[in-house]
Amino acid sequence: MALILDGRQLAAELEARLRATIAERQGTIGRPPGLAVLRVGDDPASGVYVANKEKACGRVGITSLGEHLGADAGPAAVLAAVQRLNADPACDGILLQLPLPAGLEEGPLLAAIDPEKDADGLHTLNLGRLLKGEPGPRSCTPAGVMALLARHQLPLAGRRAVVVGRSILVGKPMALMLQAADATVTVAHSRSADLAGLCRQAEVLVVAAGRPGIVAAEHVRPGAVVVDVGIHRRPEGGLCGDVRAAEVEPLAAALTPVPGGVGPMTVTMLLVNTVLAWCRRHGLAHGLDDLVV
Ligand code: NAP
Repeated sequence: MALILDGRQLAAELEARLRATIAERQGTIGRPPGLAVLRVGDDPASGVYVANKEKACGRVGITSLGEHLGADAGPAAVLAAVQRLNADPACDGILLQLPLPAGLEEGPLLAAIDPEKDADGLHTLNLGRLLKGEPGPRSCTPAGVMALLARHQLPLAGRRAVVVGRSILVGKPMALMLQAADATVTVAHSRSADLAGLCRQAEVLVVAAGRPGIVAAEHVRPGAVVVDVGIHRRPEGGLCGDVRAAEVEPLAAALTPVPGGVGPMTVTMLLVNTVLAWCRRHGLAHGLDDLVV
């Protein structure tokens, strides 16, 4: 049976470290770190995500500086909010909660975020930094996967990794991070031929296709490490991932559960990015080097 890679437990451990990091440095810096989650409109799922992020901030001692603009806010109003947060010295991280209401283009607004305050690591400059191996905020979900693999000392150097999905949010940065850790990486997508054959080559398989149950026993090489990024509401209630966990668990060496695997790590890496930015902006060592990918 697979080792279950428990994201909730690691997230709790990392929160404790962040709490200590903040408490030790707050006196020197003179204020706690600040994270602004900017929400526009009333998408109900976004409301839950924003509330979760703000609760997580509260647990570690990060001040939430969020703003909630109405669904009728035009691009100029959202841009003005981003610029206000860019200029706010108490704000170390900014996250524009997606999706935006219809009619608002996300590209120019994401590009307007100060790259040093880009808590999501999705600014073009920061994706370029990842590509070049330069320091900068990293995308939270793939960085969370890397932290989970590192915590369990699952080796990557020289291993054959397959990432299913090539989105900017998950698949592409995931592939770059695995490559930076010296894995040999293949990226599969919706036009890839023989997905099962490709996946079976993987010693480390990361699935971020957004298709419930797309990865079954026939996709998994015995002894592989399987990371399930997908998250879906089952029609009958509860959550499931892109991997058929019941089929894969007896084969895999390690598996992330859904829920409780990658999801909690994504929120934690948002906090990590904010604390790293807070320390960098004040020229203080952060002691979180093992989390920097
Ligand atoms: P996305 O933007 O929809 O991208 C999905 C990717 O999977 C695309 O590259 C697509 O290929 C590929 N794909 C789709 N169907 C496929 C198939 N049949 N075979 C092979 N590849 C296929 O989704 P995303 O934003 O990356 O998110 C992926 C999943 O992760 C979703 O379930 C999402 O909810 C979840 N997620 C979870 C977290 C978390 O914290 N746990 C965070 C972010 C996302 P093409 O490029 O060819 O279309």
